[in-house]
Amino acid sequence: MSSRLEQLCEQLGMRMTDQRRVIARVLSASHDHPDVEELHRRSVAVDPRISIATVYRTVRMFEENGILSRLDLGDGRARYEEMPESHHDHLIDTRSGKIIEFNDPELEALQDRIAARLGYKLVDHRLELFGVPLDDKDGKKGKA
Ligand SMILES: [Zn+2]
Ligand SMILES: [Zn+2]
Repeated sequence: MSSRLEQLCEQLGMRMTDQRRVIARVLSASHDHPDVEELHRRSVAVDPRISIATVYRTVRMFEENGILSRLDLGDGRARYEEMPESHHDHLIDTRSGKIIEFNDPELEALQDRIAARLGYKLVDHRLELFGVPLDDKDGKKGKA
């Protein structure tokens, strides 16, 4: 059974080496928005010959083909996820680094209205909210 990403790659006519297949499978199985180093760790567990440079190249190739989505949290480490089948936005817990996915129809509609008011039809957007847990007021001060 090939993963969803592998199938997309094949549909796009991309040349799939064994190493690219491993990386595609690792990405398809990851639902936690890993960065390249984490992807490399997971890929090496399957095939120890995979270098970090190969992971970088493969991820860039997938991204250029629109099958991988990059998430920029402003810390210089891009996170990746399979291009989702349905749209979602992200809330990032700045203390733990946890990434929460959400989709709010009201917010989506509001963005369409804002764009329309400015004379545009919205074709894409990214939204990252950064927060700290409400119930964690003074527990872990030093870390943020
Ligand atoms: Zn959205
Ligand atoms: Zn996501």
